[in-house]
Amino acid sequence: MHKRRKTIEHQWLELMDIRGGLSTEDQRRLEALEIGHEGECTFDFWMERYGDEQWRVYRDIWIDAGGPTQVDTMVVTETGVFIFDVKNYSGDYAYLNGRWSVNGRPIIKDIFVQLKRSMEKVHLMLRQIDLSLQAEGLIVFINEHFTFESEAGIDERFVMRHTLKKHLQTMDEGSVVMRMPIDMLCRRIESYFIDNPYPAPACDDDVYSRLKKGVRCAGCGGFRHMVMRYHLKCLGCGNKEAKERAVLRSICEYGVLRNDRNLRVRNIIHFVDNIVSERYVRFLLAKHFEAISRGKHAAYKNMRQVWEYCDINVTSKYKDRKI
Ligand SMILES: [Zn+2]
Repeated sequence: MHKRRKTIEHQWLELMDIRGGLSTEDQRRLEALEIGHEGECTFDFWMERYGDEQWRVYRDIWIDAGGPTQVDTMVVTETGVFIFDVKNYSGDYAYLNGRWSVNGRPIIKDIFVQLKRSMEKVHLMLRQIDLSLQAEGLIVFINEHFTFESEAGIDERFVMRHTLKKHLQTMDEGSVVMRMPIDMLCRRIESYFIDNPYPAPACDDDVYSRLKKGVRCAGCGGFRHMVMRYHLKCLGCGNKEAKERAVLRSICEYGVLRNDRNLRVRNIIHFVDNIVSERYVRFLLAKHFEAISRGKHAAYKNMRQVWEYCDINVTSKYKDRKI
């Protein structure tokens, strides 16, 4: 399984922020996603450390079983299927008389509802695969600055940070071993996986036209460069980066920001603020991206993710370095 990645919405918000196009509402959304992602990555770390190597771990998946649902983490072991919904909340939370409160103030949100909905779909999926399959759903409160007071009876629905290690070490000690070989079960489960069915946020032409254009320095985030034959040198921090990598990185940024369209030479040139020639962009697109249509108005497949997640091999021999 690959490492957990930021969702396309998260990547889009980050790039909108960097390029000066984030609304106040989006700013709050980005902060919430950052906190959530950080919590999930912490959970992944614990899982890798204390989980069993034999487990199959699926991260940030969507399944369709009588409707789509998103699952943060699904673990398939010899004894069953475990679903984890990680919450990186901080503060004093309470769940009393069926109501939530934070630091003494009531909140309307039901923290269990997302997991409850996911579990309905997961149970439905497993019933279709094999009636004997068991699934367990748990909320993980991962933040160390979190306290929780609750009424009796819901203890088995959550794990606190200080009990997570023990939980991971003991959770599949159940005696029931599944009848189906784990490989086969995973293949059956994977057949329910779908892409996120909800459209990613995209910017309209008006918002896009106001975004900062150019290649963003990988070192300091600045946009001013000196363009050399094989590399770009940042005028802000002196960072040097292979030209091929810097432009590819920017093409991927464009791809996330404008995830609702294909890649075209003219649009990329505009996005990188004419820092390189049209010929060079045409060459990079043809070399690294799948062609959808050729000719004068050639279009290439948008990978819709940032450079770090794209599996692109840069052949430039130029070594990045700071001076
Ligand atoms: Zn710089």
